[in-house]
Amino acid sequence: MRKRKLNVKRLISVLTGLSIIILLVVIIALKGNKPDIAEGSQTPTVSATPTNTTTPAPVESTSPVASPSASPQETEEPDNNLIIRTDYDNFLPNESGEIPIIMFHRFIEAYEENTDNEYTTTFAEFEALLQTLYDSGYRLISMADFIECNISVPAGTMPMVFTFDDGTPGQFNLIEEDGILKVNPKSAVGIMAAFNEKHPDFGLKGIFYVNMDIGDNTFKGEGTLKERFEILQGLGLELGTHTWGHVNFSKPENFSKIKEAIGKNQQKADEILPGLRFYSLALPHGGRPSDKSLWPLLQSGTYNNTDYYNETIMAVGANPSVPVISNKYNSLYVARIRAQGRVAVNADLTWWLPRMTSTRMFISDGDPTTIVVPEEKSGTINTEKLNNKVLITY
Ligand SMILES: [Zn+2]
Repeated sequence: MRKRKLNVKRLISVLTGLSIIILLVVIIALKGNKPDIAEGSQTPTVSATPTNTTTPAPVESTSPVASPSASPQETEEPDNNLIIRTDYDNFLPNESGEIPIIMFHRFIEAYEENTDNEYTTTFAEFEALLQTLYDSGYRLISMADFIECNISVPAGTMPMVFTFDDGTPGQFNLIEEDGILKVNPKSAVGIMAAFNEKHPDFGLKGIFYVNMDIGDNTFKGEGTLKERFEILQGLGLELGTHTWGHVNFSKPENFSKIKEAIGKNQQKADEILPGLRFYSLALPHGGRPSDKSLWPLLQSGTYNNTDYYNETIMAVGANPSVPVISNKYNSLYVARIRAQGRVAVNADLTWWLPRMTSTRMFISDGDPTTIVVPEEKSGTINTEKLNNKVLITY
């Protein structure tokens, strides 16, 4: 009996020793990981902050439907083995930094004589942009994750949100092959899906703001509107509201139409795809009433027994956004950056890219359950918004 007890003691001490060794090995392995992006690659420059210029969005026009030519995609091994890091001093995470929310409108195969300058891009330019963003250390997150500050991108990378207004076919449309509906590879979603095959850590994320009044013209192509919505959501992409009628709420004659424009869009969406709830509104033309007492109606209301609630209300211009955990965050007017169109203009994404330095942007630690910020920036965090996340300063 006594001998047996001694053996148990010895076993415990051996196990304890082993645990310590394993722990040490893990710690050494973590410390040894070198940052592959973001560290030192972005030198601080003068950070210019343009004012919130609300440039009018263009009115809808149908883009030419692209030809359904599938191009073979080469796949390679993903190198996204680096996920969570705690050696903060080595890669300087800052989860109080800004998050760029990019606004896209139209995509076409090639520019034509009458193509507008600022709201249309080509598929080739979009594909090149994805590579630029990826190489610069950006990774996509969903609007839902932005709202929850549930940032799940690899350590050292920067979250970015893609938004698409007006439901144009160049953004997303379906083709039919052998009786099966497929995403047109010549669409923004098709290009993103192919890019994600090569770089799975980039993320296939984005929110599409639609106007239900244009019916089947949303994502015009094969399939019913319901099928288009289902396939889009099946890819992990999101739908948002852009109002019934693309209503510019900055015009006084539209002040009385807020509940109808947002409520009716929600009602129709629920009819097309039962259970579909919009949780984000993109203001058409970035317009909102001069009468501030009307602003709460943009967020929530009821129309014809249909309730609506928008967690975020998206502007049109012209800065990266602070994260929702920032003291400065205002969910009723969240800044977006216009993607570059045919020509570069001030405060578009091309203008912003060199200005979005590592000192001002959100740099993730890779762990969505923690908010890691440099000590000197801890005062910018709204601790009431942490939502059970652990605030870590260093
Ligand atoms: Zn629009």
